[in-house]
Amino acid sequence: MKMFCYQCQETAKGTGCTVRGVCGKTDHVSNLQDLLIYVVKGIAVVSNKGLEAGLKFPEANFFTINALFMTITNANFDDGIIIEKIKEGLDLRDNMKSELVEKGVSLDGLHDVAIWTPDSDEALLEKAKSSEVGILATEDEDIRSLRELITYGLKGMAAYAEHAYNLGSESEDIYAFIYRALEATLDDSLTADDLVALTLETGKYGVDAMAMLDAANTGAYGNPEITEVNIGVRDNPAILISGHDLKDLKQLLDQTEGTGVDVYTHGEMLPGHYYPEF
Ligand code: SF4
Repeated sequence: MKMFCYQCQETAKGTGCTVRGVCGKTDHVSNLQDLLIYVVKGIAVVSNKGLEAGLKFPEANFFTINALFMTITNANFDDGIIIEKIKEGLDLRDNMKSELVEKGVSLDGLHDVAIWTPDSDEALLEKAKSSEVGILATEDEDIRSLRELITYGLKGMAAYAEHAYNLGSESEDIYAFIYRALEATLDDSLTADDLVALTLETGKYGVDAMAMLDAANTGAYGNPEITEVNIGVRDNPAILISGHDLKDLKQLLDQTEGTGVDVYTHGEMLPGHYYPEF
């Protein structure tokens, strides 16, 4: 097996992509994404240590949601960027640990996730570590499924939280939940019932993240309304935009204004038409 990913509905044979993603993701990128998730879990563990001691690490918040967002289907297949993100995360994690030690917080008994440090860039490309920490590392299928379901919920939550962040909205509660839930996916003492409860809580926070994004979107671009849309095609050079980030759409429209380049919406960006600003 060169990789294992079953995070989306397109997964091969309905069970898992094991050679290359149906989405086009290479085994190389998939394994790096497994490592990035591992690094993010390490940051969560250290953040939780800080929160227990009354210390916050604001610099970890955007890193965490951005890194989680990078690993959703089709969002980022650039192995160079993922390697840089892993290295950035390891530096961030270690700086956070140093700050905790300076403040007298004990780091005894930390999970490997908060300690692991690759010897070199090349070590990131070796499959050994990603196999050790990837999805199949959890042997019990029920526990594995629940851990992954929670992780996918967090990835979606992170995407919405990042869009809201881009419009100036953040939530300490959502960040704290993401850290708590990420650490819980490492906790072998949690039962399937515990993880079902955490899955439901993930859904609750996902709705909170959507509400935060909705408030940010309507605050910036107005309340959605019934809108007549031109569905034709013109001869101009054009850019097709998808995704949920309305600020991306705003910037693209500003940058193309008066250039003769048309902007077409697609998929998730179709709702962009409902907002009066657009
Ligand atoms: S994200 Fe890509 S690699 Fe993962 S299950 Fe979906 S199609 Fe397969």
